[in-house]
Amino acid sequence: MAKNWYPIINEEDCIECGKCIERCKKGVYDNTKTVATVIQPDNCSFRCECCSALCPVGAISYYSEPTLFSIVKGSCGH
Ligand code: SF4
Ligand code: SF4
Repeated sequence: MAKNWYPIINEEDCIECGKCIERCKKGVYDNTKTVATVIQPDNCSFRCECCSALCPVGAISYYSEPTLFSIVKGSCGH
C-alpha cells in the first residue's frame, strides 16, 4: 500500500511475457491484458521490486517520491 511507490512500464520495451502480471499478488496489474498495465498503483508494496526482477527486458522501473533523507539533505543547500 504505497502511493509513493509503484511500477512504471515502458510499453515500447515490454514483450508481453506476462511474468510481472503473474508474479504480483497485489492486483497492481491488469490481468486481462498482455501488455503490462498498472491499474492499482496504491496496492504496490513499498520497495517490493519482485516484478522488475523478473522482467527479461528491463521494462519496469518505479516511481518513488523523494525520501526524507534527500529532503533534509536538500534543505541545507547541497
Ligand atoms: S513491486 Fe511487488 S507489489 Fe508492486 S507491482 Fe511489482 S510485484 Fe506487485
Ligand atoms: S515482465 Fe516485462 S516484458 Fe514481461 S509483461 Fe512484464 S513488463 Fe512486459
